[in-house]
Amino acid sequence: MTEPSYVIPPPPRVALEVRDSAARFPVHRIYCVGRNYAAHAREMGHDDREPPFFFQKNPDDLVEAGTPVPYPPQTTDLHHEVELVVALGTGGSDIPVEDALAHVYGYAVGLDLTRRDVQAEAKKSARPWATAKAFAASAPISAIVPAAVIGHPAKGRLTASVNGAPRQDGDIAEMIWSVPEIIAHLSRWFVLAPGDLIFTGTPAGVGGLERGDVVTATIAGVGTLDVAIR
Ligand code: MN
Repeated sequence: MTEPSYVIPPPPRVALEVRDSAARFPVHRIYCVGRNYAAHAREMGHDDREPPFFFQKNPDDLVEAGTPVPYPPQTTDLHHEVELVVALGTGGSDIPVEDALAHVYGYAVGLDLTRRDVQAEAKKSARPWATAKAFAASAPISAIVPAAVIGHPAKGRLTASVNGAPRQDGDIAEMIWSVPEIIAHLSRWFVLAPGDLIFTGTPAGVGGLERGDVVTATIAGVGTLDVAIR
């Protein structure tokens, strides 16, 4: 087979470490769920009975453990949001809730870094969230742990601390929409594909970061992620 030629250099394939594996997880798209924990929805001024809604980040916004995150331009209020990340091994459309977990390859700990000031302005002007959410290095993530190893966690404490001080503390059992329900909903809007990641929302306690901070994000049974902001 002839190698294709390109008019510019092709972008590199984005892929993530898989715990205890030499092979990596190739990333297709990144979907994120908004307001999926009641206490966080309330702290952002909403009630907790709205249907799930989605936004996206870009695959090359991912940052693997050990790589510092540069404080992004165009904000003075960068926020941490610790989230369970679902990594899909297979995709599809209109996936029934009862079949959804069969599409999951594994799980990771992620941070949905957010320009909160830009997001607040976007909400006020009814504009999209892209500049608030989908910027370079906005998606730090741990190694993926296969569901074949840890199963499908339906509960487990998730926390975020900054320089050792507790900020966020919740449990993935508190999600308004569970992982199977999220996959089912999302697959009505998008054709899901192998390599898709889903950030599943954050518990209460989000807050601002400064240059020099270290965020530690943990999810019981899934992993720990340290992220230095520089
Ligand atoms: Mn989030």
